[in-house]
Amino acid sequence: GLPVRVAALQHIFPNGVEAIRRVDLAIAAGEFVAILGPSGCGKSTLLRVIAGLERQTGGDVSVGSADDAGRSDIAFVFQDAHLLPWRTVLANAALPLELRGVPVEQRTSAAIAALASVGLAGFEDRYPAQLSGGMKMRVSIARALVTRPRLLLMDEPFAALDEITRQKLDDLLRKLWADTGMTVLFVTHSTEEATYLASRAVVMSRRPGRIVLDHAIDLPAVRS
Ligand code: ADP
Ligand code: ADP
Repeated sequence: GLPVRVAALQHIFPNGVEAIRRVDLAIAAGEFVAILGPSGCGKSTLLRVIAGLERQTGGDVSVGSADDAGRSDIAFVFQDAHLLPWRTVLANAALPLELRGVPVEQRTSAAIAALASVGLAGFEDRYPAQLSGGMKMRVSIARALVTRPRLLLMDEPFAALDEITRQKLDDLLRKLWADTGMTVLFVTHSTEEATYLASRAVVMSRRPGRIVLDHAIDLPAVRS
């Protein structure tokens, strides 16, 4: 996994909203960090700034060490699966490699492997409309994993799913994390989900967004 370092981060939107004030956060390679806090406290903004999707107005963000290329090792999963409806499951999962110009044979085998890793072997030729919500999210995770990212950023990925489906995806994510060693930053509203999944919990508070609690979770619970 990649380490992440955030120093004296500040972000003020053009409309004057101060979403983040002086946030410091050092995440070691391979940590699974849950980011908690009320709506509007700046969780999404923090993730988007780390991903490079938003340029902060103050402070520094670094992903990986100085000699790491950085951004190309980062994958993002949103609450909505954001699949392209006219593409098959396979073509959706292969999209990031296609955009990078990876040859078709290579990206097809990588997408097949990524889909298998999320339990979707045999679903390659389906279309998103034929899938359940949980399966769509699995495709979204496969698409994120297909580039073998070393940092996975997830913004309330399972919030729209029912409880049973969410628990299954939590279990899948734990396994993927254990298998790959990637660093994971996971935004959730649920303390229960955070303590189940993460090795560390960071709690933010609003007005303006800052970190009010940062604690290791010693023994991740195992669901019986
Ligand atoms: P969270 O993810 O914790 O709900 P956000 O990071 O989405 O919080 O938002 C933090 C604050 O910034 C909120 O007050 C929100 O209204 C504001 N905000 C978010 N995005 C924008 C934007 N594009 N323009 C202006 N204000 C924004
Ligand atoms: P998830 O927890 O990912 O939403 P579901 O509860 O929808 O998964 O289904 C569990 C498993 O059952 C899926 O991973 C898939 O293998 C299989 N499955 C679900 N829906 C269908 C379907 N419409 N056709 C065939 N198999 C399905």
